[in-house]
Amino acid sequence: MASSSSVRLHHLPSSWRSSPSPTNLQFRAASCRWRRPLPGAAPPPLRLRATPTDAAQPFNGKEPFESEEKDHQEQQLQPRLKIAVVGFGNYGQFLARTLVAQGHTVLAHSRSDHSAAAAAIGARFFPDPHDLCECHPDVVLLATSILSAEAVVRSLPLHRLRRDTLFADVLSVKEFPRNLLLGTLPEEFDIVCTHPMFGPESARDGWAGLPLVYEAVRVGDDPARRARAAAFLNIFEREGCRMVEMSCVEHDAHAAGTQFLTHTVGRTLALLELRPTPISTRGYETLLRLVDNTCSDSFDLYNGLFMYNKNSTELLNRLEWAMDSVKKKLFDGLHDVLRRQLFDFDFDGEVDPIDNEVVVAVDGDEDDDDGDVNAEEETGEENN
Ligand code: NAP
Repeated sequence: MASSSSVRLHHLPSSWRSSPSPTNLQFRAASCRWRRPLPGAAPPPLRLRATPTDAAQPFNGKEPFESEEKDHQEQQLQPRLKIAVVGFGNYGQFLARTLVAQGHTVLAHSRSDHSAAAAAIGARFFPDPHDLCECHPDVVLLATSILSAEAVVRSLPLHRLRRDTLFADVLSVKEFPRNLLLGTLPEEFDIVCTHPMFGPESARDGWAGLPLVYEAVRVGDDPARRARAAAFLNIFEREGCRMVEMSCVEHDAHAAGTQFLTHTVGRTLALLELRPTPISTRGYETLLRLVDNTCSDSFDLYNGLFMYNKNSTELLNRLEWAMDSVKKKLFDGLHDVLRRQLFDFDFDGEVDPIDNEVVVAVDGDEDDDDGDVNAEEETGEENN
């Protein structure tokens, strides 16, 4: 899970610190910075600043115990959060493993009873959302299905949470949860929308280099609240994610043409029941992997990508148009060849480039297949 670069975390308020000074912190992560002021806020008084360090890391090439000590030191310095994962299915559990490994306290709640899975991960499961909220988590992390997100958020007893709780989500569409959270949560709550562009399959070997798209939708202009949002995002930085700050609207425009397209092609190919063959090419093997990767996600997830991203309908129409165009080109070529063969006797024609009709000029008075004399000759009309 280590990444190739390091960052320094500056200007954390004292409540988030333990000695030594945070300027000595070196997190294993790619670059991340607040690129623009948060909406409605004065220029931020504190920043999450990532400074890629080219110099060799202190533990590079050193004995393992030194590296372990470094990890231990980092854990001591990293602010620990109490994170409530709401929606503890496939993805919620996948995230929880890393949260626990980083030393955060993980509470979990879900529609189904996942208490055994939670215990195995080192998280605490709460069947009742009231009990969960009464634990006053720093962060509520929404990891439920896109389709159920609204019902789940509305079912949470928000009044039992602390007034300035940070809400974050990992839904694979972004404009919808952004609007949902803005419209549902009290104004005092902070909101950070994220989409980790990876899953249990693609991140089997760690998160390093994989994109984390985020928008700090609303973070109160208060050092502690900014630090908490920064600490939450730092979870992904520490794993080496490529941090991509992007508006939720822009995310959805890109995601329709990338993620929804990928899933649609994967699910379409799955209907063909493709199997490995003794002569499979690399390209074909890539298609088999695509089917595996996309179909291992729930249909709810795929359906959510369609239902809750307004750009998906257009993508689907374009995909259909592209398939029809390719097919038409092939069939037009085939018809052209067939027609040439059909009219092969003393063939002296050419293909009309406009409508691909074969324009036939007949020498002599041969009959058509059906015995009729060629209409052009009979009527004297010109083909046009
Ligand atoms: P999913 O099918 O999208 O969501 C499963 C989760 O939704 C489970 O926690 C399930 O609860 C809950 N759920 C479903 N219907 C519900 C309902 N009617 N009421 C209450 N809860 C309901 O599969 P997932 O892979 O775990 O994804 C979870 C979230 O992560 C989604 O928003 C997805 O877009 C996002 N995400 C997934 C990936 C990925 O690779 N899988 C990557 C990035 C982001 P129970 O298990 O308790 O029934």
